Amino acid sequence: MLSNSLIELDRAHLVHPVASYRGHEAAGARVLASAKGAIVTDASGHHLVDGFAGLWCVNAGYGHESIVEAAARQMRQLPYATGYFSLASEPAIRLAAALAERAPGDLNHVYFTLGGSDAVDSTVRFIHYYWHARGQPQRDQFITLQQGYHGSSTVGAGLTALPAFHANFGVPLNWQHKIPSHYPYRNPVGSDPEAIIAASLAALQAKIAEVGGPERVAAFYAEPIQGSGGVLVPPDGWMKAMRERCRQYGILFVADEVITGFGRTGPLFACTDDDIVPDLMTVAKGLTSGYVPMGAVLMSDHVYGVIADGAGASAVGHGYTYSAHPVSAAVGLAVLDLYENGLLENGRRAGARLMAGLRALQDHPLVGEVRGRGLLAAIELVTDKEKKTPLPASAEPSRRIFDRAWANGLVIRAFPTGVLGYAPPLCCSEIEIDDIIERTARTLDQTL
Ligand code: PLP
Repeated sequence: MLSNSLIELDRAHLVHPVASYRGHEAAGARVLASAKGAIVTDASGHHLVDGFAGLWCVNAGYGHESIVEAAARQMRQLPYATGYFSLASEPAIRLAAALAERAPGDLNHVYFTLGGSDAVDSTVRFIHYYWHARGQPQRDQFITLQQGYHGSSTVGAGLTALPAFHANFGVPLNWQHKIPSHYPYRNPVGSDPEAIIAASLAALQAKIAEVGGPERVAAFYAEPIQGSGGVLVPPDGWMKAMRERCRQYGILFVADEVITGFGRTGPLFACTDDDIVPDLMTVAKGLTSGYVPMGAVLMSDHVYGVIADGAGASAVGHGYTYSAHPVSAAVGLAVLDLYENGLLENGRRAGARLMAGLRALQDHPLVGEVRGRGLLAAIELVTDKEKKTPLPASAEPSRRIFDRAWANGLVIRAFPTGVLGYAPPLCCSEIEIDDIIERTARTLDQTL
């Protein structure tokens, strides 16, 4: 049983990420105590299906002994090795090689970070460096999508399009620009894929012209599926069309696969389904399945080569004490082994079942749209299906839905926009997927 003193200590001392501090103080923490597979248990002994894999990260599921063993073994043998001074550890080298082998195209060069935000930050630094090395330092403008999320570091928060991540933080915004998302359910041009792709290409072109032409633009960033913006799935062919257009303009294309990587949408990387090879790719979350922190930037031969040649004998001055941490890398290798020995396959089956189950809820009076790919899905709630009237824009209704789902034994993400997000672990059984659907239906009925 959870002692009141723990709740008090939390209130007094633990500052929570992306929370209303006063709201949190009033509500108190929900303390998770243990987890196994796809099930988490809170400190009062309440069991829940984790329909959100922590924060879309515990792709492998909880409690894998092989991961725990890999971390413990590495901690005993060599808990730390810097990558500075050309030092390295075996797991870091092996994980870099394994990612390069599996990533699309020639993304052969891997820079490890501590998570997604600093992976995005690193791309911004590498891209600036790249254009300086090519003698075009004026290419310093970045374009991203509205509803995009690219982390909450000072630089990455600028690429992020969610206002709460900028407002009052002094985030420099003058170098980055947004174009409308594809968002098929609410796109002003309608839901026709060709029309959406044409509109996005036109918006990109207009934005490039607005900032002074392609020779001012450093890079364009896109998530294969926009996660934190509300699980917005572009029409088939959208990523490829945008990638090709960037290539024509000589603009670097960055795929942010922090959520979509590692089986979340089916394959190891969503870019594979989109049939594209970006110039740079960011990953995190599923890379270590959340057991320990780690992210990475994957760079093409060309991007890496330009930076390397540009620096020559000088150091490329970008690094962290914990870049390529050997324990994280050992965990990454153990997780990769699980993905490739049944988990990806199970995830694809579970994803098909999840999508079919959620789609069966489409007739519910509150359900405006069900969307997703694989184990990344969302229900967009509306108060009027015909008019697509959104739920009142406030944290309160979504908070209540989250609470009801929790009481029903289900963890989901309830966005303030009235979108329910799903990203369960790839290890989910059929029964657990069916539980997610049944508990969602019950929660929606209680919300009517
Ligand atoms: N990029 C994307 C697409 C993300 O979804 C996230 C986090 O959700 C990030 C970057 C930032 O990752 P992190 O929270 O590990 O810093």
